[in-house]
Amino acid sequence: MSLLTVGTVAFDSIETPYGKAEKVIGGACTYISWAASYYTDDIRLTSIVGHDFPAEEIKTLEARGVNMEGLKIVKDGLTFFWAGRYHENMNQRDTLTTDLNVLDDFDPELPDSYKDSKYIMLGNLTPDIQIRVMEQLTDPQFVALDTMNFWMDIAMDRLKEAISKVDLLTINDEEARQLSGEYSLVNAAQKIFEMGPKYLVIKKGEHGALLMSKDEMFFAPALPLALVKDPTGAGDTFAGGLMGHIAQTGDTSFDNLKRAVIHGSAMASFCVEEFSLDKLKTLDKDQIAERIKRFTQMMSVDL
Ligand code: AMP
Repeated sequence: MSLLTVGTVAFDSIETPYGKAEKVIGGACTYISWAASYYTDDIRLTSIVGHDFPAEEIKTLEARGVNMEGLKIVKDGLTFFWAGRYHENMNQRDTLTTDLNVLDDFDPELPDSYKDSKYIMLGNLTPDIQIRVMEQLTDPQFVALDTMNFWMDIAMDRLKEAISKVDLLTINDEEARQLSGEYSLVNAAQKIFEMGPKYLVIKKGEHGALLMSKDEMFFAPALPLALVKDPTGAGDTFAGGLMGHIAQTGDTSFDNLKRAVIHGSAMASFCVEEFSLDKLKTLDKDQIAERIKRFTQMMSVDL
């Protein structure tokens, strides 16, 4: 079924203990769409880039079946740019630069063919844009929203308004604390449920992800990897795998959300093995199935 993806399409400059990548392709929507493209063939991308964004990248996504009608190209603008540096432990990073560029005055107008989208992944970008997209949908079945501390710092009220309209919120543990004002993640989750969402996924980097509803909880580990080269985009790739699986199955029960979280974790485990989208672009169905199998083996126990 149809999956609408929204978020940044970007240039990133990344420094990790394993090397540097200057002005490579990134952006929440890019990672989400690549990951989801392994699950469903009706993906509708919504984003904005400047004249400096390579046409080649647009073509490769199109070749994977992603509908690019909703990608606005601004002839006299520059693409969103983000630069970050990871600490030795890779779980922490410092943002060095965030240049919003064309994102600054993006007012997304969904193509008519996108308006009936059923499954929606609102990736990280301004809450204003996330709200504008939701306002144009005619029959959304399940809306997920991802965000980050940057938007909590500069647009908390609008962000809370956006969050009040969605079914699922995905954020990391520190962001859950900032959003709720609670240190305990259990208390943070209760506060977040009061804001509107029915489900919450708290991402804990290399320590996995926690899926919660008001009365159920599920923990998915991250796959322990010998080498993590670049964690950039892991959260977005997770979201892409998760919503890709939900759109593919059309099932939003808690049991199926559990499976979706494992698909998200498996896709994220590929993402971090190389810089930028280098690994995500090379996958096939067998590799993904094999990795899902490793998750089920790692998680099962005969008590
Ligand atoms: P993640 O590692 O999952 O948080 O995602 C990193 C990606 O998000 C990078 O490719 C960036 O281009 C993009 N990004 C970084 N900061 C922001 C921001 N403030 N808003 C939207 N996207 C961002």
